[in-house]
Amino acid sequence: DIQSLNVCAIEVVADAGARVLPLAAGLDDALFEHDGQITKREVRALTLSALAPRRGELLWDIGAGSGSIAIEWMLADPAMRAIAIEASPERTERIGRNAARFGVPGLVVVEGEAPAALNGLAQPDVVFVGGGGSEPGVMEAAIAALRPGGRLVANAVTTEMEAVLIGHHARLGGSLIRIDIARASPVGRMTGWRPAMPVTQWSWVK
Ligand code: SAH
Repeated sequence: DIQSLNVCAIEVVADAGARVLPLAAGLDDALFEHDGQITKREVRALTLSALAPRRGELLWDIGAGSGSIAIEWMLADPAMRAIAIEASPERTERIGRNAARFGVPGLVVVEGEAPAALNGLAQPDVVFVGGGGSEPGVMEAAIAALRPGGRLVANAVTTEMEAVLIGHHARLGGSLIRIDIARASPVGRMTGWRPAMPVTQWSWVK
């Protein structure tokens, strides 16, 4: 009847502007406000898999950028907790906006440079290092802060950071992987693979 048709039409209009979030980690980059410094979708999916969120755990996301890793961590379950540490004031504000938009206002944002900014934060169950890891003392502070049995995952895009991770892997073990992604895109009227910068990822249990 006319009345139920109207109700349907209203629901369709309301849905058109809604953001429907898939349940799996590795959300579309475009869902996040970012300035290009974002862990890309495929790498983010593998990173969340390595971080292996368990209900109620506390994550430190060091060098949080847009906050995409901490936000996807929070989305895993309402009981998740996370602290995003980011040196750039512009980006910390952006993390706040992204957290609000994704409905995870419980994400704590700390503006400052690691390792100093890590002082006094609640002890993490899991640490992700997505930035600042090649600066003196950052990896050491992250490892020291982690609770025994806690997990650490660090990503490297630069050779400097990769060297840090290769050193840690040699000394402490854990697993080291290299993520090479290429995307098909136009080459004239044909199509070719455009490789993204490879990411080296070290995962370790304390
Ligand atoms: N994982 C992020 C991208 C990280 S880019 C995302 O998905 O959005 C690396 C970030 O680390 C940058 O925003 C940079 O400002 C930050 N950074 C670099 N050194 C830092 C340090 N010592 N302490 C805190 N943040 C740092």
